[in-house]
Amino acid sequence: MKAVIMAGGKGTRLSAVLQDIPKPMVNLAGKPLLVHQIENLKENGISDITIVVGHLGHVIQDYFGDGHELGVNITYFVENEPLGTAGALPFMRNQLDEDFILLFGDLFVNINFQRFYRFHERCGADITLYTHPNSHPYDSDIIISDQENRVIDWSYKNSERVQDYKNQVNAGVYVIKPSVLEQIPEGKKTDLEKDIITKMISRKSVYSYACTEYVKDIGTPERLKKVEEDYRKGICEKRNLKNKQKCIFLDRDGTINKHIGFLNSVEQMQLEKNVAEAISKINESEYLAIVVTNQPVIARGECTTEELENINNRMYTLLGNKGAYLDDLYYCPHHPDSGFDGEIKELKFDCNCRKPKTGMIQQAANDHNIDVENSWIIGDTTIDIQTGLNAGLNTALVLTGEAGNDRKYQVNADVCAENLEQCVELIIEKGDQL
Ligand SMILES: [Zn+2]
Repeated sequence: MKAVIMAGGKGTRLSAVLQDIPKPMVNLAGKPLLVHQIENLKENGISDITIVVGHLGHVIQDYFGDGHELGVNITYFVENEPLGTAGALPFMRNQLDEDFILLFGDLFVNINFQRFYRFHERCGADITLYTHPNSHPYDSDIIISDQENRVIDWSYKNSERVQDYKNQVNAGVYVIKPSVLEQIPEGKKTDLEKDIITKMISRKSVYSYACTEYVKDIGTPERLKKVEEDYRKGICEKRNLKNKQKCIFLDRDGTINKHIGFLNSVEQMQLEKNVAEAISKINESEYLAIVVTNQPVIARGECTTEELENINNRMYTLLGNKGAYLDDLYYCPHHPDSGFDGEIKELKFDCNCRKPKTGMIQQAANDHNIDVENSWIIGDTTIDIQTGLNAGLNTALVLTGEAGNDRKYQVNADVCAENLEQCVELIIEKGDQL
């Protein structure tokens, strides 16, 4: 596998910390950002690397040479004038004879590239985008994909958003088929996203790899500082999917949003107090935040799948506006008892996913490589606690929503807290001792 790193950018916002070095050479925890990238690629068996350099490119060339000191083979493409994020690629046609990784030089990444590449191959994609939820979706490009992970639309950050979207942002890391290079004009400034990818969407060959690993740009001094802190805490490495992940599973109704019985319209989606703050704390920690929710309103015919999606998208927007995000969401659309007007017959059966059964937890554990024993479930009902016990999770009851008064099961949670924020603080600060 080969990789191309786009390291030609100017990095004006970082100029205070940079002084005569290009942005990808900024020092992060004792070594240049590019060294972190190259080490991550090498760990994944990727040692053939081309770096596209421009502004102050000689600093990069002088530092790395042919790459042998890092155990890789580096070649360079020198842009005499800026060619945008894709304009250099057609000049490398002869070298790029197989599907290759492309990444931007201003990113700190700790990615399992092999897993990413396998996904790309499985989809048969021309381009696969690495996507993830982030803490500022309102000023990020959002990628909209279908059930098969095919990208179907692109919402630009500067466009006026009239609807809610799932928080799925383009990270700036790609796997690209060499045939894509034929569509890029030679010697002309070309933007990979605007000029190439968005035009390929209609051909249904662009895919989104939604992932929870650590990928952040270091475009401002504040962001750089934050990444450095996370790096020193070991969070960047822990989030790599080659490692087992710790997760806090969250119930939705009564735990995240206000409990109102059977929620079936977007307007009814309102967050409980300080929920965004609570989920932000999870996002900043080593835990994933994944929702598991029973939605029998679907089987009952009280809410369509599309309406449920809109309701969830409203939740993502409300959280996103306050800097919080969910790493994934699983819902059970089923209900066991049939014989009611308007119900969807094929969803009326005794499934394996309806809590307190563990189907959703098992699916999530499989998708996200979760260490169940060291993970948690937080909910407002005894059903959530029973789910946790059945799945082998640690359990926490919040006294919002039904506050455990459903009394379906005689269970005791490991932790009980007034609200989600208190609960999350307890788990993150004292979780290992509880
Ligand atoms: Zn189910």
